[in-house]
Amino acid sequence: MNAQDVSHFRLGRPLVVAIDGPSGSGKSSVSREVARRMHLAYLDTGAMYRAVTWAALDAAIDLEDAVRVEALAREVSLELSTDPARELVVANGRDVTAAIREPRISEAVSYVATTMGARAELISRQQAVIAECGHRIVAEGRDITTVVAPDAHTRILLTASEESRLRRRAAQLSEAGEAQESEALRAQVAGRDAKDSSAANFTTAADGVVTLDSSDLDFEQTVQAVIQIVVNNGE
Ligand code: C5P
Repeated sequence: MNAQDVSHFRLGRPLVVAIDGPSGSGKSSVSREVARRMHLAYLDTGAMYRAVTWAALDAAIDLEDAVRVEALAREVSLELSTDPARELVVANGRDVTAAIREPRISEAVSYVATTMGARAELISRQQAVIAECGHRIVAEGRDITTVVAPDAHTRILLTASEESRLRRRAAQLSEAGEAQESEALRAQVAGRDAKDSSAANFTTAADGVVTLDSSDLDFEQTVQAVIQIVVNNGE
């Protein structure tokens, strides 16, 4: 399999690659690169939950008020770039690409993710994006393999040990100039995973979902492993 073959794989036909995993599993950067190499669109569903959280904080909405959070999720205008080469998230006309990665958003996002009405709204928006992209897309999150795109061509649960996830998250934050104390980061990552698990099961693979443990793989090896799983699933 060379790069040429991969970019032509199932050309002109639907190819949805659904990837779930906990925070720090590397799923965003890996998914984006797989999309780029396979000439597919890319959807970061976590960015949608983050953008709604940003809009709620911006409007000083009480995140524990489920009725208001749900109404906001329906009303907020969201634009996400689905080009894997261009990261852009716009909420209510504001470019929030960088702002949604701030620790204050990571700390609050689980409130939105566990508000069932807000989830239902975002799930249907995500399904609309997948359709708009002609069902040729890599979509990643927590419930893509099970709820958003259970009929995807390929469904992968990307996991990694807690130590390697923390290491990756710390590296990402320091690159963004947002370095955090390691104990604070450990508490935040573990706390967010525990809270998120109540809304979506991303710790065990559902039937038909392939588990890929990236603890001992570097970035390139993980990208190659994902592409291999897609190709093995057949034309
Ligand atoms: O992937 P990322 O860490 O950016 O996701 C941010 C948050 O969005 C997660 O912690 C989770 O609360 C929520 N999320 C979700 N379902 C998805 C994607 C993200 O609940 N499909």
